[in-house]
This record gives sequence, C-alpha cells and structure tokens, in this order.
Amino acid sequence: MNSVLVRKYNQPVPRYTSYPTVPFWTDNIDIDRWEQVFKNKFEEQNAQNGISLYLHLPFCESLCTYCGCNKKITTNHKVEEEYLEAIEKEWLIYRRLMKQTPIIRELHIGGGTPTFFSPGNLQRLLKVILKNSIKHPRHEFSIEGHPNNTTKEHLKILYNLGFRRISYGVQDNNHDVQRIINRIQPFENVKNTTEMARAIGFTSINFDLIYGLPLQKLESIERTINQTIELKPDRIAFYSYAHVPWTSKAQRLFNESHLPSAEEKISLYLRGKELLIKNGYVDIGMDHFALPNDELYKAVIERKLHRNFMGYTTSCTRFMLGLGVSSISDTGNAFAQNNKTLHEYYESVGDNRMAVRKGFFLSEEDEDFRKYILDIICNGEVLFLQKHLPLLEQYCFPRLEELEKDGLVVWDRNGLRVTAQGHHFLRNICSSFDLYIQRTETEKKNVFSKAI
Ligand code: SF4
Repeated sequence: MNSVLVRKYNQPVPRYTSYPTVPFWTDNIDIDRWEQVFKNKFEEQNAQNGISLYLHLPFCESLCTYCGCNKKITTNHKVEEEYLEAIEKEWLIYRRLMKQTPIIRELHIGGGTPTFFSPGNLQRLLKVILKNSIKHPRHEFSIEGHPNNTTKEHLKILYNLGFRRISYGVQDNNHDVQRIINRIQPFENVKNTTEMARAIGFTSINFDLIYGLPLQKLESIERTINQTIELKPDRIAFYSYAHVPWTSKAQRLFNESHLPSAEEKISLYLRGKELLIKNGYVDIGMDHFALPNDELYKAVIERKLHRNFMGYTTSCTRFMLGLGVSSISDTGNAFAQNNKTLHEYYESVGDNRMAVRKGFFLSEEDEDFRKYILDIICNGEVLFLQKHLPLLEQYCFPRLEELEKDGLVVWDRNGLRVTAQGHHFLRNICSSFDLYIQRTETEKKNVFSKAI
C-alpha cells in the first residue's frame, strides 16, 4: 500500500459502529422520551423481524493491557450473584414496556469475559431471559469465549439453549507479545476449546486477532495466522489495535516505543491479509474475513451486511436492546447507553429505574446520513438523496474531491463507489459524511483512535 497515503490518512477517525458517534451523544438522556421511543419501535420491529439482545457480563480475572472494553477485574466469583440479580431485574424493567411477547432473533453475550461466569449461572440468566419470550425459528445466539476458561460444560449448556456461534479472543500467539499485553494464552488452549466447540455442535467459530500490538513483528503475525488457519475458524476479525491511552489507562502500562510504526503496522496487516486470502478466506470489509460458506460472506453477496457495536454482523433486526453495565441499545432512531460504573448501575436497577445515562435521538437527517455511512462501510457504495445536495455540496463534496485525487473513491452528484485502494481507508471515507465532525471541525485528537 502507498506509504504516502498511509501517512496522510492515519488521522484520528471514528470506527463508525454508530452514527452519530458516541462523543456526540448527550450525557443525560431524557428517560421518558427514551421509554416512549423504545415502546413504539419495539412494537413495530418485534412483529416484523424479532429483536436482538446484547448482554454485557463485565468481569475478567486479569487485566489485558491493550483492552479498551468496559470491564471489572476480580478473582472473586461471588460477584456473579449480585450482577445476575441486577441484569435479570433490568430485563424485567424493559419487559414491562413490551406489550407483545418478545421474539428473540439474535442474542449475543459479550464482556468482559462471559465465561468468567459459571455454566450454571449462565444457564440461570438465559432461562430468565428466555422464559416468556419466543425464540425466533431462525434465531442466532452467540457468545464471546475466553480460550483459557471456556469449559466443556459451558459449551454444552449454551448449545442446549440454542447457541451455535462462539467467538474466541486469540489476539496473538507469540509469548513475548502475550507477556507484554498480560494475556498468557497457550495455543493449546485455543486449539482445545475450538475443537471442543466443534465436537459439541457449534457451527460458526470466530477468532479475534489484533495487529499493531506492542512487540508484534512480521514473524509473530505469520505464526499466529498460520496457526489460526490450521484450526479453520469460519470467521476472523483481524482488528487494528486502537491506542487510546487517554481513555484506557491500562494501555499506559506498556511503553509506546514498543508499538510498531504506522508503516510497520500496515505491513503486519497486509501480510496477515495475504496469508488469509491465500488460504481461502474472503476479505469482507474493514478488518473482517470469512470462509466462503460462512453467513457473513453470504451477507456481503446478498448486500445484507450490517455494522453495529459488535462490528460487522449478518443482523436482520434493526432493534437491539443492551442489558448490563455500559451496554448500548439501538432502536434505529435512538441510542441509549447504560451507566458505566457498577455502583451506578446497581443503584438504578435496584431502585427499579432504567439504568440508561447517555444517548442520542436521531433526526431524519441523522438517519439518512447514518444510512450513507452504513452503505459505504458495508457495501462500498452509496446513492445520494437529491434532497441532500445542498448539504453534500457544503460539507461532503470538497472532501470527496480530495479522496478521488488520491484514488480512494469514484463519485458524482448521484453517488459514490469505494475503489480497491479506498477499502483500506473506509473510516476516512465515512468521516466525509459525518456531519457532526464536518460541521464542528471537532478536535479529533484524543477522541478517536488513528485510522491505521
Ligand atoms: S481483553 Fe477481554 S479478557 Fe482482557 S481485560 Fe479486556 S475484556 Fe477482559
């Protein structure tokens, strides 16, 4: 890839897992309005497609220093009980707003480390959620598993409840890298837990890998990818490490001089990509690869790919309820994020109140520009609505001229197509349509991670 372009576009830009992006949300969301929007959209979407649920289980036994998730580090498993009581209660608070029985089409358990919880406790939580709900006939249930603590019992219980997808955080198999990120995870563990999941009947296995970690070298990426290929996960998310030490304090635990430069980082990505493609994986879009028989690839072909807080998905619903500390709900026309600290989360739910704190209600213009960004990031092309021409001319077209000169897009007043080279800079292209950034010229440094 052209190193001049890498340097030019390696600017802080959002990852566009939402639009408007989180820094533009309001801090104290109007809860009555949120309840009303929730009720209306639930009725509409539940009947049409069913809904998606996200359950956030925040505990981890040890701190990975690269981590930017909302998590709580503890080895005390007594915390499971209090947390389960709270999340079950939060579900009942939302259940009271639902006039129809919820039809659960998608359910994803993320963290933290969901497999920190005992198999029995996971079963208890899921039984509460699924009781008095309808499982959609084509439901898709998935969970994030830690290779170090996912047991056969976890997998069996989840399988029996309808889970067929599991995503393992692998990151990098090199011991020096694992030591500096404080995540010692022998390849044997990854292998065993992958084989166990397959033997039990899981049909879609995802690995998360990261490039750009401290001490990562071409050889360690090659080894990690080659070992990954041996296990043939159906999907691979090959993420760029986001260095944001101003929000993730743990990232201050290693020295920045251990990080690869932007050029080295892009070489790590390109080498990884080359190996994956050579071994039958298809490049889905920003950081995601899949085998051709995987649903994610089929979604690309059928132009049904979607992007949300979990990255690219095949999601068929446009209504996501997030439960648990820091979880985000998305009704299509509003976002709401729960309290970020356990203390505040327990307090709200304990008082039978919604735990939502931060959020955003989208205007019609926001919804249209959200669709532009989703079309670019998922399909690599977009058609403009003629009613937006004055806005596009003012804020977006000048940026597109520059992107076109660099060979990243082809466009006219009707629409835009991303070029092969442009696929490496999707975040930058999307930011041209981010009216919040374009209008305010926000100081993006120390808000978003760099594009590469
Ligand atoms: S990377 Fe995962 S396991 Fe590690 S601290 Fe973050 S949430 Fe926990």
